Order: sequence, then structure tokens, then C-alpha cells
Amino acid sequence: MKEDTKIVRAGRHPAQHGGAVNTPVYHVSTVLVDTLEELEGLRQRKPPVMAYGRRGTPTSHAFEEAVAELEGGAGCVSFPSGLAAISGALLTYAETGAHFLISDSAYGPTRRLCDTLLKRLGVTTDYYDPLIGGDIANLIKDNTKIVFTESPGSLTFEVQDIPAIAAAAHERGAKVLMDNTWASPIYFKPFDHGVDLSIQAATKYIVGHSDAMLGTVTANEECLEALQETTYSMGFAAGPDDLYLGTRGIRTIGVRLRQHMESGLNVARWLQSRPEVVRVIHPGLPNDPGHALWQRDFTGASGLFAFVIKSCPRAALEAMVNHFKYFGMGASWGGYESLCMPTSPEKMRTVTTWEPGGQCMRIHVGLEDVDDLIEDLSSAFDRLNAAM
Ligand SMILES: *Cc1c(COP(=O)(O)O)cnc(C)c1O
Repeated sequence: MKEDTKIVRAGRHPAQHGGAVNTPVYHVSTVLVDTLEELEGLRQRKPPVMAYGRRGTPTSHAFEEAVAELEGGAGCVSFPSGLAAISGALLTYAETGAHFLISDSAYGPTRRLCDTLLKRLGVTTDYYDPLIGGDIANLIKDNTKIVFTESPGSLTFEVQDIPAIAAAAHERGAKVLMDNTWASPIYFKPFDHGVDLSIQAATKYIVGHSDAMLGTVTANEECLEALQETTYSMGFAAGPDDLYLGTRGIRTIGVRLRQHMESGLNVARWLQSRPEVVRVIHPGLPNDPGHALWQRDFTGASGLFAFVIKSCPRAALEAMVNHFKYFGMGASWGGYESLCMPTSPEKMRTVTTWEPGGQCMRIHVGLEDVDDLIEDLSSAFDRLNAAM
């Protein structure tokens, strides 16, 4: 089955739901049984059978089955947010005396979790250069449980050599976790590249419409049971309406991403031609330092990237971003709408320095007409120049 057909079919079982194309929304806590024997049997039930709302319903099973199939893992567990998925994955390997290696380019809240809660639980974290590749072997200790990757990295978009990192980690018995949100399950197939657990902030491209929070961890055969066990122990359960929106989002993710990629690359090339722009950071551009690895391992690019403008006074930056017509400013991304905002990734680094050479901006190119978006950015640069 080709990818676009998989996107349409994954996790769907119309015959089990009266022929309905979409798995209905099951609002469930209690699951009733009639006999003591059935009640005792309930505790033994494993998905896809429903035993209790928190342990999964046809709505969550449909979503998890679809994500697992698209990412290429053995199974998936859903979470009420992307960050909850990250904590579920990390806590699966957390124990007193454990050592974690986390990419210095990782999403800020991932770092905070390691530096606060996990530290308190007795896990030590070392950050590593995202471009380390196979040299990660030099940082792996006997107690290193996981190597956490995020490729391309949050805000800075370094592409990591996942197969080289995975080979080194597996040699020493460490698991490889990846935050695969940027590429979505469509443009990077983590399990083909040695990843053991793949995380999606499904809030982003999977939901795709900026209206629900959701996360997933997909695992290979070897890691799935430990992940499920940890998740059940912690009581994470995503809400049925959000799960439904996640599954519905999946059905259009292929066409949406193709448009995000095309429009994103158009805007990126246009930005490259502007005198205000020092650098465009988009792995899909041939001159990007991550381009070769991206081309080797990824099958596409999403609509999220960065660009750096020449340093400017705050008033000029305000003039630029305060009056966008179409671009919005706000956290998150992956919806149909375009976003553009200043960021300061250099402030998060602890073991590498990242020097943008100006003011870094993160941009999400949505599904609006690309000419309108370019016109909006062009006016923004006019305002910036007038205020310099
Ligand atoms: C947004 C994001 C998350 C967290 O997802 P939420 O659903 O907002 O909790 C995790 N990783 C990356 C790379 C993200 O961009």
C-alpha cells in the first residue's frame, strides 16, 4: 500500500461501527458487565477491547493504530499533549542513577523536565551537540539509558545523523528516543533509521487545525510493553473529542504537508533574496548545512523553519511584527495558519553555542496563498526599514 492510501485507511474499521467511515467518539469511564466472572475478566482485557475509559476506547485505539502504522512502529500510546508524551517516554527509562543524553537543540520544556523533575528522581542529564553523529559513543556511559534526539532541532533546525547515533547507542545498550514532530509521521520514518521510541506533538501537524492538544509515543516491539506499563501507571488519558480530531487530522496530513512544503520552500527562497535577511535556516534548501542528511533520511519538509534578520532596535522589530496582515504570533504550529515570531534559541544552549548573527525568527508557512504571505512579509520588511 502506498503512503497516501495508508493515510486514508490506517486505523479505520467501518464494519465495527455500523459502517461509519470514521470511528465514533466514545465518551467512556465505566464499562459495565453483568457477572462476577466478566468483572474479573475485565482486568485481563488488553486493547483493542475496552475495559475502562482510561485504558483506551475504540476512539483512542483507532488513533493509536493509525499513528503506529504511519510511523512504522509496533504500537502507539496517546497522551493529552506532546509534552505529556515526552514525559511518558522519558519516565519509561527514568530510575535513580540513570544517565540521559539529550540533544542541546531539544525543545525547551524537554530540557526543563530533565533539569527539574528527573533530576529530583536521581537521573543525571548531559546535553550533547546535535551534530555529534557517531561520536556520541564518547559520551555514553554504562548507566546511559537513553539518547534523546530531535531532528531537525527546535528553533535551530539542525538535522541529526540519527542512524549513526542509533548505531552507537545500541552498541552500548542505550535506547534512542526521537521527537519527530517536525517531519510528522509522514516525512521521516523513525523505525527505519534505528529509533526505538518516536514522539509526536500531535497538537501540531496531526491535529493540524490548532484546536486540540494531543501527543503520541510510538515504540518498536522491544520497547512497547515498558512504555505501556509506565503510561498506565501514570494515568495519562487523552480526551475522546481530541483523539477524534487527531484521527480526522490524519486523513488530510499528506495533502496538507505537501502544500506546507511547497509554500514553505517558496517563502524560504524569497527570504533568501532579501537584503534584511542574514540567513534562512531550512534543511530543504540546497545550501543549508543539514541539507545532505535531510535529503538522505527525510522524504519531505514541513512548513516550519527559521530566518535571521540583521540585528535591529526593539522598536524596529516591533514595527515589523506588530502589524502583520496574515501572519500571527503565538506558540505552537502545524495548523493551517501562518505564524511568524522572534525567538532566542541561543539562550537555551548549555554545551554548544549557537550564534545567529542577528535576530532569529521562527516562521510557520500555512495554507494561505503564498503570494499573499510574501506580500505580508514584504510590507513587514518595509516597516522594519522605515523604523531603523
Ligand atoms: C510543541 C512541541 C512539543 C510539545 O507539544 P504540546 O502538545 O504543545 O505539549 C514537543 N516537541 C516539539 C518539537 C514541539 O514543537
